[in-house]
Amino acid sequence: MSGFETRLLIGGEQAAGTGPALAVENPATEETLAEVALPAGEQVDAAVAAAREAARDWAAMPAIERGELLHEVAKRLRDRADEIGRVMTLEGGKPLIENTDEVGWTAAAFDYYAEIGRNFAGRVIPSIESTQLALVLKEPMGVVGCIVPWNYPLLLLAWKLAPALAAGNTTVCKPSELTPLSTLMLADCFDHMPPGVVNLLAGAGDVGARIVADERVDCVAFTGSVETGKAIARVCADRIARINLELGGKDPFIVCEDVAANVDVAARGGAWAAYLNAGQVCTSAERFYVMEPVYDDFLQAFVDHTDTLVVGDPLDAETDIGPLVSADQRQRVSAQVEAAVSAGATLVRGGEGRDRGHFFTPAVVTGAPDETDLLREETFGPVAPIVRVRSLDEAIELANSTRFGLGANVYTRDLGNVVRCMREIKAGTVWFNDPLTDNDAAPFGGMKQSGLGRELGQEGLEAFQETKHVHIETQIAPKEWWYPYGGGGPPSGA
Ligand code: NAD
Repeated sequence: MSGFETRLLIGGEQAAGTGPALAVENPATEETLAEVALPAGEQVDAAVAAAREAARDWAAMPAIERGELLHEVAKRLRDRADEIGRVMTLEGGKPLIENTDEVGWTAAAFDYYAEIGRNFAGRVIPSIESTQLALVLKEPMGVVGCIVPWNYPLLLLAWKLAPALAAGNTTVCKPSELTPLSTLMLADCFDHMPPGVVNLLAGAGDVGARIVADERVDCVAFTGSVETGKAIARVCADRIARINLELGGKDPFIVCEDVAANVDVAARGGAWAAYLNAGQVCTSAERFYVMEPVYDDFLQAFVDHTDTLVVGDPLDAETDIGPLVSADQRQRVSAQVEAAVSAGATLVRGGEGRDRGHFFTPAVVTGAPDETDLLREETFGPVAPIVRVRSLDEAIELANSTRFGLGANVYTRDLGNVVRCMREIKAGTVWFNDPLTDNDAAPFGGMKQSGLGRELGQEGLEAFQETKHVHIETQIAPKEWWYPYGGGGPPSGA
């Protein structure tokens, strides 16, 4: 139970928490990996105070210098990708290859915002009179609380932390209680930065809630469940704190009849989109709407491909799919599938467990009634419900029929279908023929209850900037619209 970094980072100092201990489990073996001493309330407050203290100087630092420090973070992450990826695999259960990739993407986000952050600080707008200058300034907000889930612990942190820092904010970061170890390892990646600019905590919802309720935290950037997002929004509403929420999804995956010749490719892409990280991706494909003429071939190809996938030890290079993150998560997924089967659905493949570890073999479900949770609420597990549809109209209507609007996938090469889906599907991202591909330059986020605001791209930087209008009159002279309204001319001497 050692070899893991378990100290917190508060005001530039690494220190053990003085609160209760948290056991971190390996979801593949159910063994305890490490115990993290959590921060006591005063340590959470001290982290916020340190961020506040550092805020003024960090905001005043030229953006190009901040950018250099962020590039150095990216370099340190890349240098330690194997080591960090291994710890992510041990605590989260994602296959090693996906975790080392995640460290690379995390570094890429720091590099991206290092440059974007020195490229834009507002704009000049036409002034009302020729003697004036009018500016729109983009300024840091102050202290940003970054609260993230366990499925992509470093990437989702970087999508907040990198732009928040690039925009001149300081931060207090809290990983999920299920995956704190990889985040606490990052202290070394920030030790070239001024103390207090990045603070790393650990803990569960109570630590998150303390950060959110703190008046000194100007903005909360959160990724997690819709329910927690709503709770955070309520608290922040009370003091009008800024929020950026990336919440759950129930992404549709539409397969049009024109892909008949490539139905195997669509099935492989669909299986990857449904099973990646054991389906624990906010943009997992969770509902397949397949046009009648290609339905049977698609289903067969999907099931055949599912049969080839290797479920096992996430440290093993051959493994495609690891365990779910926790017993609770496995129980939720399993209960949703069982409820659909009780309502008349057929479990064509999968859904099996192991003696040890929270494994759930990738499942294919057909015939699920539309009102079952399996087709309406987030599953967050490796389950692909496949539904036959008669037309694109029906597919689009079903795609838009939940409270979510995060992402959507469509397989088609018919230009008319592309334009209709692009315009009519209510989702923050619509991918055509290339599921789930991220792009640092592309804003990411959800419509409807899937979230508020965007991460990545220019929008992802502006999410951490306040807007200030500056109006400068270069002449000191009275204006004709001032008092007195009844005439009488300017005061003597003007
Ligand atoms: P969660 O909402 O339970 O927890 C997320 C984080 O919030 C954790 O760090 C948790 O400790 C903290 N938290 C819990 N209660 C809190 C409170 N009252 N105040 C402040 N912080 C609190 O979510 P989870 O189970 O860790 O993650 C799974 C969810 O995340 C899924 O719903 C998934 O869709 C969503 N997710 C969304 C995206 C996206 O970008 N839209 C990406 C990944 C995951």
